[in-house]
Amino acid sequence: MSNSCLFCRIAARELPSAELLDDERVFAFLDINPLRRGHALLVPKHHAAKLEDTSPEDAAALMRATQRLTRALAQATGAPDATVAINNGPAAGQEVAHLHIHIVPRQAGDQAGPIHDLFAQARPRPDPEELNDLAVEVQERLAATVSRGGRA
Ligand code: 5GP
Ligand code: ZN
Repeated sequence: MSNSCLFCRIAARELPSAELLDDERVFAFLDINPLRRGHALLVPKHHAAKLEDTSPEDAAALMRATQRLTRALAQATGAPDATVAINNGPAAGQEVAHLHIHIVPRQAGDQAGPIHDLFAQARPRPDPEELNDLAVEVQERLAATVSRGGRA
């Protein structure tokens, strides 16, 4: 835990929040500046800046809690669906440098659109060969991490 990290301090209850869930590994609370009613943030208690910095156990706990929270938020808000997203690093728009999953309840016709709209302006469609080359490159890097026990 980092004394200066905002979300470490919230997860440790040193700072107040509208708390949703607190278990051994994860903590969830409502966003102070919600994009939609019920916008929730879910964090690992053990500090990690980005998804790939967190342990496999914390990653699994985050995904399980995301399922539970998404369901409960839908029931509580009446919004049937949700955008589930991570701004994973500053280049992707992350402002608080402690991994957090955004769960934003969504209603049909709420005008916000899919996350694809983030990139609506500059999106040339790659040719299939380019996609295949990139897929092979990623497969090779994944194979290299298997030989290191699955860690990047
Ligand atoms: P990011 O841009 O890092 O993915 O998102 C950070 C989120 O944290 C934003 O949606 C912002 O409204 C929320 N946030 C920032 N400071 C606080 C805070 O002190 N309390 C709560 N509950 N949310 C915060
Ligand atoms: Zn932290």
